[in-house]
This record gives sequence, structure tokens and C-alpha cells, in this order.
Amino acid sequence: MRAVYVEKPHSYEVTDMPEPEPGPDEVLVRVKACSFCGSDTHLIEGKMPGVIYPLIPGHEWTGEVVSTGELVEEFSPGDRVATESHAGCGRCRNCVRGFYTICENYGRKPLHRQIGMTANGGFAQLCAVPVKLLHRLPGDMPFTTGTLMTTAGTAIVGLETCGIETGDRVLIYGAGAIGLLTMQFARFLGAGDVCIVDTLPSRLEVAKKLGAEITVHAGTEDLDMILAERGWKGGADLAVEAAGVGALQAECIRRVRRGGRVLLLGITAGEEPPAPLNRFSLDQLTLYGIRGEGDYSVERAVRAYESGRIDSSPINTHVFQLEEFEKGFEVFSGKKDNAIKVVLEC
Ligand SMILES: [Zn+2]
Ligand SMILES: [Zn+2]
Repeated sequence: MRAVYVEKPHSYEVTDMPEPEPGPDEVLVRVKACSFCGSDTHLIEGKMPGVIYPLIPGHEWTGEVVSTGELVEEFSPGDRVATESHAGCGRCRNCVRGFYTICENYGRKPLHRQIGMTANGGFAQLCAVPVKLLHRLPGDMPFTTGTLMTTAGTAIVGLETCGIETGDRVLIYGAGAIGLLTMQFARFLGAGDVCIVDTLPSRLEVAKKLGAEITVHAGTEDLDMILAERGWKGGADLAVEAAGVGALQAECIRRVRRGGRVLLLGITAGEEPPAPLNRFSLDQLTLYGIRGEGDYSVERAVRAYESGRIDSSPINTHVFQLEEFEKGFEVFSGKKDNAIKVVLEC
């Protein structure tokens, strides 16, 4: 099969690889679409903690079931599926309590696997994964749209973890895929105003199209003034860092009201600038961080889309073929040609 093989940071190629064999509780999937995530950029650049090289990357993908292991009864050949990436060990303290995306055995094979990070992923024609990672994709949802279900799951778990409340004023830094999906699901879950901040006008346009009440261009517009005019007295109820920028993590802490909540979704490339942590005691703030999707959120994301109340199609701006991995990666990581999500058809 053809696949993207990353030997080590900065060293990758599209090449022939042996076809994977599904184990007893695994499913062999013909990959139809796989999208780039910010953490794939970190992976290629050697800045993603926990990655085990060499590997086939790709953790946001969809496909069609080819065959199933002897213990699998949930799926049959031809079924369309979306995926999540964390296959927890199932027996550590966190897994037993349901928090398998923070498995204590992360990276310890064969106990644990994160597809596309510690084990081969979806930038390939075929991928074999444990059945517990798969969710049925509705027949009318394009495979390219389906790749967003993994990211949508992360947005859902983040918002639910910090207890989003009806009418919440939500401030989101970053109008990339995770920020835009968090904006859409905040509204879906009952938020009041949602304000999204970015430096790229094209992304703010998409945010508007997808329903953001307020969009703010970080370089030219005065966020404080805009929020004051809108009546956001004291700051946001919830501020979300969705850009993966350390300085914006600190901004989130500054921008919430007394008693507010901060949610960190982005993964930074390692920088940790000073943050006004005193506010946590003075103003009784609460900080939440979540790792990946989990909590059956990919399945729930699919159902939310099936309701017809969410359409994220403008987020998938570019589609290339698997053989064009390098071009796709350059367009995605360089945010060229107003790229947000770049998907490869495999
Ligand atoms: Zn991702
Ligand atoms: Zn575990």
C-alpha cells in the first residue's frame, strides 16, 4: 500500500509499505480521507511530545471497513467509519475511570496506542485499529467532512469539561479548525455571545459564516473596546486558547471575569511565557485542560451533525491526494491560500 512514512523529524516520504493485518479485536479500514492537525506539524518538526518514530502519521481520518478480526461484531465490510485516536490500556487508573486519552501507559506497546502518534495512522491507503476507536459515519456525510469528527470531539470534551452554561459569554483565541469547531459547539451547547479572535481576516470571515456573534482581528481591532460595547462587563465567562500559542494562554487568564473559567485546548511548541497566575486565587478562576477527544465524543459529534444544526464544511478549505502529502503539508503548515483544514484523499 502507499503511505506516508516519517522516519524521523523533518524526514518523510510517500512510499510503499506492507499492508497491516488486523488483530482479533481490530478492524482493517481502507482510508478515504485524512486531514492535517496542528499536532502533525509538531510531529514533522519533532516538537510533539510522546511521538514514537518511525511511523505513519494521521489521526483524523475516515474510511470504509475492509475486514474485521474474529472478535469484532460491531462492523462489517463496507461500513463507513470515523475514528478517534487514543486506544488506552483499559486497566490503569485513568482508563478504568474513563479518561483513556490520558492513559498512564501512554506509548507503552502493546498496552497503549495513539494512532498516528505512537502507532501507524491514517496517511495511508489502509489502517488497522482497535474496534473501540471506530464510529459509524452517516451515509450522506462526505468522508472529507467526517475527518472533522475527531476534532469536533475534542471541542465537545473541552466545553463539557469546563461546564459550559446557558448564556455563557465565550472568548476564543484562534480561528483554526479547533477554534471554529469550539465556537460552533459552544453555540450548539447554549452559549450566549461567542467572540473569536485571530490574526487572519480570511479565518474571521469563515467564523462569521459559521455563526460567531463577534469576530476580532488581533492586529488592528481593540478587543477590550469591542467587548465593552457589547456589554461584556468584567470579561468572559469562559476563555478558550485554541491557537497553541503560549502568550495567548496568558491572555485567556487576563480576559475572564472574576470567577471565570479558562480552557486550554491548543498544544504549544513548548514555550511557556509568564502568566498572571495570581488571578486564580484573587479572583477564584478555574483552569481546565483536556487531551484529545475521548468520552465517546466522536460518536456524539456525528449525532450532532446528523441533527442538521451544524455545518462545518467551510473549515475544509483544501483537498489533495495522498501522493501530494508534501504539498498538502506546506499549504497547511504555512496557512497558504487561506488554508484552514487540509484533507488528503487516500
Ligand atoms: Zn489532532
Ligand atoms: Zn490506561
